[in-house]
Amino acid sequence: MVGVKTGVLALQGDFAEHLELLASCGYSAEAVRSVEDLQAVDSLIIPGGESTTMLKLIDRYDMRDFLVKRISAGMPVLGTCAGAILLADRVSDGETSLGVLSIVVERNAYGRQAQSFEADIDVPDLDCTIKGVFIRAPVIVDAAGATVVATWAGSPVLVRSGNLVACTFHPELAGEERVHRWFVEQVCGGEG
Ligand code: GLN
Repeated sequence: MVGVKTGVLALQGDFAEHLELLASCGYSAEAVRSVEDLQAVDSLIIPGGESTTMLKLIDRYDMRDFLVKRISAGMPVLGTCAGAILLADRVSDGETSLGVLSIVVERNAYGRQAQSFEADIDVPDLDCTIKGVFIRAPVIVDAAGATVVATWAGSPVLVRSGNLVACTFHPELAGEERVHRWFVEQVCGGEG
């Protein structure tokens, strides 16, 4: 969307792939590594990676308070995989999170045999089937506080509550643009 500058939290994880995908969609995107960087963007993607490490780095760079403040003030955020864990209100193994989206997640919950896999995911609202790459993904075990946008194998994999979107898979690793386009154009565009 013209005029929306999307930040990608670039402390750890696969932020480079998100930046590349946003660029290939023609969107304005910036790596975010500090409070100053965060002040300069309209919305944020929190990438996949390791949620515990990412939260430690958020604290090391003193970003947590300002990040939560901006989220509470309505900044749109898309959290993918570890990013979805960071947004959740509660993580079932007791791990801390930013606690801003009313979902409960269980980390690494697809089991050892299925740590990484690809799946075709129907997204009725977008009227399409998209390819999802799951890597040691969390399962959203309670999404009662959010709107479920897509499910796979009976569990929500893409949910939204107002300005916040949690996605348990990695569209950016499959070159799948539609989740990012929906986020930038619909969620950041103020729809819903
Ligand atoms: N298992 C990771 C975590 O708990 C998430 C994996 C990912 O982001 N691909 O943070």
